[in-house]
Amino acid sequence: MRSSPSNNQCDVLVVGGGNAALCAAVSAAEAGAAVTLLEASPREFRGGNSRHVRNIRYMHNAATDIMTGPYAEDEFLDDLMRVTGGKTDEALARQCIRLSEDAIDWMRARGVRFQPALGGTLQLSHSNAFFLGGGKALVNALFACAEKLGVAVRYEAEVTGLAFDENGFRHVVVGDEQIPAKSVVAASGGFEANIPWLTEAWGPAAENFIVRGSPFNTGHSLRALMEGGAEMIGDPTQCHAVAIDARVPKFDAGIVSRSDSVPFGVMVNRDGVRFYDEGEDFWPKRYAIWGRLIAKQPGQIAYSIIDAKAVPLFMPSIYPPHTSDTISGLAGEIGVDPAALEKTLGDYNAAVGPGTLDTEILDGCRTVGLAIDKTNWARPIDTPPYCAYPLAPGITFTYLSARIDAAARVQMSGGTIAPGVYAAGELMSGNILGQGYLAGFGMTIGTVFGRIAGREAAGYALK
Ligand SMILES: Cc1cc2nc3c(=O)[nH]c(=O)nc-3n(C[C@H](O)[C@H](O)[C@H](O)COP(=O)(O)OP(=O)(O)OC[C@H]3O[C@@H](n4cnc5c(N)ncnc54)[C@H](O)[C@@H]3O)c2cc1C
Repeated sequence: MRSSPSNNQCDVLVVGGGNAALCAAVSAAEAGAAVTLLEASPREFRGGNSRHVRNIRYMHNAATDIMTGPYAEDEFLDDLMRVTGGKTDEALARQCIRLSEDAIDWMRARGVRFQPALGGTLQLSHSNAFFLGGGKALVNALFACAEKLGVAVRYEAEVTGLAFDENGFRHVVVGDEQIPAKSVVAASGGFEANIPWLTEAWGPAAENFIVRGSPFNTGHSLRALMEGGAEMIGDPTQCHAVAIDARVPKFDAGIVSRSDSVPFGVMVNRDGVRFYDEGEDFWPKRYAIWGRLIAKQPGQIAYSIIDAKAVPLFMPSIYPPHTSDTISGLAGEIGVDPAALEKTLGDYNAAVGPGTLDTEILDGCRTVGLAIDKTNWARPIDTPPYCAYPLAPGITFTYLSARIDAAARVQMSGGTIAPGVYAAGELMSGNILGQGYLAGFGMTIGTVFGRIAGREAAGYALK
């Protein structure tokens, strides 16, 4: 293995090319360090899952030009506690929330642009700021800023090893090269694109998962940290997975892969059998459980079955549904036993009670007496053409993370720290997000801890 010449040695290495890595690289460069950023992907695919984002959640005490109202620390923390069920390091969570306050100004000053909250996102309009041009524009702006500050960017530079111990950081491994530096920021996301690793927890079912984001988030540097003795936090067997259209590409389909028909019909597995209450709660509160529910079904596939009445009630999916004028014809289209599907829908239709559909509220229109009742928005499925959307588990991110302290320093399992080794973004988000998810919070964590990690890594390197 060859070493990079020492006269080229930089102060700070940043592993990754998404939002957290870019915030770290920019902060380290602004603090005066010579920075090299190592991005596993080619230039065209740079930016990891951050390319796919739409918004960032941040604390603010009044309405602004892009926000409809205040979103104060306590409300933010309450929201976080609710989704995590208290599985969070409260001190780090509060730090993250407080430091998110100037995230928008900081990003704006570095070329990132925002837009007023979009219609249809009302529940987010006072808490989340939307990136103009989405995540791709954000990533492009931060790369441009980093390069202007002199950050050296290397593409197709996948880090497979990280040499460090209680005495400090030595080098990272890229191909057959050892790249030394005084400090390192690991900001290379989770391991959601590493199907063999996911198989350790999910078994062969993981082969059928669709990865909503980057194929480059394979978790090699997280694994290297783990093998080097860094302490891990977060459930290694859990991932955030939503139900997405099963026809999208295996990787990188992004936000358009979503499918919103579930509450307005019934969901059946490939045996034609229902397996969960489709009307348990509003879709934004429930869409994240359906990925895991489908992962447990045979073949990791399910079908949302609706009729013509339901079509206007949700945003259309990227692909048109399978359709037929009869239930048995629809079953044939999707390869489900017609008799089984007809029985499921016959039983369901017969069990629907009286009521008037109201999609704005939990309307109590429900079935009665089924093994699994549908408890809201239940109407007979009786108006052709009938439609079926095939849905599969779409994995967003994994929870396993490197444990850090308030200065983003990686903790060793013996209770010490790894001097010169810092972590930011998804790779450490399990410290704060032990379970569940809060829309826009991935970007909050990446921006806040990216900035901290970059600044601290520069301070360490230059001291
Ligand atoms: C479809 C979709 C929509 C989302 N929408 C939102 C949203 O609107 N708001 C929000 O807050 N969050 C959203 N998220 C979550 C959000 O994308 C993540 O929380 C956030 O991007 C994490 O940032 P990061 O920098 O830690 O990781 P990433 O942006 O994923 O970046 C990881 C980087 O590391 C690189 N890399 C990986 N392994 C290596 C290696 N071994 N060596 C070198 N480089 C490596 C990758 O190529 C990539 O550049 C969404 C996720 C998806 C998939």
